[in-house]
Amino acid sequence: MNVPLLLNQFLDRAVSLYGDKKAIFSEDRALTYSDLNERVNRLSDGLRKLGAVKGDRIAYLAPNSLEMLEGFYGVFQVGGVMVPLNIRLKPEDYLFILNHSESKVLFVDQDLYHLIQPIKNQLETVKEIIVHYKEESTVETGYDDWLLQHSSEPFKREELDENDVCSLLYTSGTTGNPKGVMLTHRNNYLHAMSSMHHLRVSDEDVLMHVLPMFHVNGWGSPFYYTANGSSQVCFRKTTPEAIFSALEKHRVSVMHMAPTVLNALLQYYEKNVPTIEQQVRVVIAGSAPPPAFVTRVEKELGWEFIQVYGMTETSPLSTISTIRSHLKELPLNEQYRMKAKAGISMIGCQVMVVNDFGEEVAHNGKEIGEITTRSNGVMKGYWKNEEATMETIRNGWLHTGDMATVDEYGNIDIVDRKKDVIISGGENISSIEVEGALYDHPAVLEAAVIAVPHEKWGETPHAYIVLRENEQITEKDLIAFSRDKLAHFKAITGVTFVEELPKTASGKIQKVQLRKEYLETSLKE
Ligand code: ATP
Ligand code: MG
Repeated sequence: MNVPLLLNQFLDRAVSLYGDKKAIFSEDRALTYSDLNERVNRLSDGLRKLGAVKGDRIAYLAPNSLEMLEGFYGVFQVGGVMVPLNIRLKPEDYLFILNHSESKVLFVDQDLYHLIQPIKNQLETVKEIIVHYKEESTVETGYDDWLLQHSSEPFKREELDENDVCSLLYTSGTTGNPKGVMLTHRNNYLHAMSSMHHLRVSDEDVLMHVLPMFHVNGWGSPFYYTANGSSQVCFRKTTPEAIFSALEKHRVSVMHMAPTVLNALLQYYEKNVPTIEQQVRVVIAGSAPPPAFVTRVEKELGWEFIQVYGMTETSPLSTISTIRSHLKELPLNEQYRMKAKAGISMIGCQVMVVNDFGEEVAHNGKEIGEITTRSNGVMKGYWKNEEATMETIRNGWLHTGDMATVDEYGNIDIVDRKKDVIISGGENISSIEVEGALYDHPAVLEAAVIAVPHEKWGETPHAYIVLRENEQITEKDLIAFSRDKLAHFKAITGVTFVEELPKTASGKIQKVQLRKEYLETSLKE
């Protein structure tokens, strides 16, 4: 008989094989797998008594914490769908997501409760708000007290199919309004199996959560570390200082993080060289860093660097930078360059970069196409948006909207988002490449390059620039600088200096806003 692939099986395994082992360190609390399981049962019992039934959306607004981790397994036991909310949004964004997802229960961290208070009366479907309680709380509904009122006995689980939805994750909203991505138990289960293989996860691992669990990159990892009986460390503060001290305290072996955070760690390390004992074996980051950066992480910090590529719609990972054994003969420089690419497909994923005719591009590192993927991680669809689902998944292949080349070894190298590529005189220009050149200028703090209309070339690159404090440069000089650095057709043709760039809550630059702004300004002129 086939056993459906359900995520609670991961916790069951850890409880039976590692019951007395520490599952989680969260701020100053530590819980074994058996303790965690008891709390999960209490949570499920509490949810059922609140009337939660299979398919109900249950939202979480919380930083990485014990409460968030137990939420995963507690919600799944009642057949619920977890809706984790980005903690850096505004009240009106929460109003949109909570109403759009038709969430029934909302768990909120006490420190974030003030973001919900202003919209409380406009929530259409939320029947209960439960605040994660701290001692000094002034909020009345205490979460731990509420848990204790419920049974820790093994919970009679809702019967589920592996294709039932377990999470509704909203995308970052870089290119427009965030979309609700429906992921199933099977999606997350098989993604976890593949990731634990590629990252060589074991019961000796201690994962420190640096990426937020509300975002898909952080969302998937608890499953594979739970399944292997690893320990997990959560904390609210993710300053370099706090991270380095936690590395020693908890003997952390693995971290997943955004490249900006890794960069901050590297800078901090180079300035302070903390005298700590640390045993990090690997650090995993998304987004394309320059090879020199990879070299510094590996040589100075002594951490193996792995780059991954993915998106909410694919659970999230599709590719991973890996130096296969037959490529270890390549010169080290070449290997570092390879690690800086998005890499090769993960097990369970088919990834193909295709041109406008749907044909696979040549593996020559030059021809650019769109990344398409067919995998166990591909979402069930966008919540209440059939049209966007049909547009994204065509003939069984998910069209990522990301453009890439493929090198002679089959490594995928991200060029740009399709919507951000600049087409000038029939040539494709990667906005990322132009930005990279501008960042080389010492006066430039931040750069974002967009396509703007041009009479002769159709489009040309235009830069939005934030200058470093007390630095000056003219538009003319920056244009000349870009012409020095890049092929002339890739050089910028104009600059707008700004105080700051529009960003999503997770820190991605919203070029769609810049394009709008440019059009509005040029219409006025
Ligand atoms: P929205 O879809 O709402 O506009 P978003 O695409 O930023 O927002 P996410 O699902 O969080 O939402 O991000 C996925 C995107 O992040 C990918 O489609 C890709 O553009 C970018 N990305 C992910 N990994 C990498 C990587 N290794 N290198 C470059 N870009 C990456
Ligand atoms: Mg997207």
